[in-house]
Amino acid sequence: MLKLTGEIRTKLVLEMTTKRKSTGESPGGPPKKPNTAGHWSGGLVAAMEDPKLVVSSDDLVTVIRDAYPKAKYHYLVLPKENISSIKSATQDHLDLLKHMDKVGRELMTSEDTFKIGYHAEPSMQRLHLHVISDDMNSPCVKTKKHWNSFNTEFFIDSKVIIEQLERKGKIKLPSKDKCKEYMERPLKCHKCDYIPKHMPDLKIHILKHVTS
Ligand code: AMP
Ligand code: ZN
Repeated sequence: MLKLTGEIRTKLVLEMTTKRKSTGESPGGPPKKPNTAGHWSGGLVAAMEDPKLVVSSDDLVTVIRDAYPKAKYHYLVLPKENISSIKSATQDHLDLLKHMDKVGRELMTSEDTFKIGYHAEPSMQRLHLHVISDDMNSPCVKTKKHWNSFNTEFFIDSKVIIEQLERKGKIKLPSKDKCKEYMERPLKCHKCDYIPKHMPDLKIHILKHVTS
């Protein structure tokens, strides 16, 4: 088990305090300031051209590193086609979604466990598939919203989306009210039954589950 020194504990609490004081942050973590695409929510389209973030690309998709990673590994797979979000994906996009899933799975390392899927209500424009290791151990995880967006039904597995399109011809996303409920759900460790008092407590607790 990992022992925490007073210094690490203080750093974690300080990180949380600084976050609470800051204003103007978009849901994903970055400051809400315009980018080359004109609005913070267009930042992923600009990031697809940023050599510091691009990991790979082919005819159909670009893979970038998430600029505010919520875990040890956090990638986004984005189509080159201008599809605004999972909400506008249709059966016509089935082959593309399967390709994104395949490219996403190729990013997974064998030593880590990964999740691959979509946020029910994305904050950033351009369809994007999250490929994220399940440690959630990152300074960018600061709020309950950050936590719950990856650890409740707000996060929808890529295979579920593909199956819905194959079987029913359309994607059924949770309602606005359901999404709100997921975001407001009390914090809980994603690996055991631990119920933390608050985010700093949870951030300290999850270090128990980090193996290396
Ligand atoms: P979502 O809530 O599904 O829209 O997630 C958007 C993701 O994009 C979050 O994980 C953010 O950390 C990430 N993100 C936000 N801005 C940028 C950016 N400019 N470049 C790369 N990733 C970003
Ligand atoms: Zn736990």
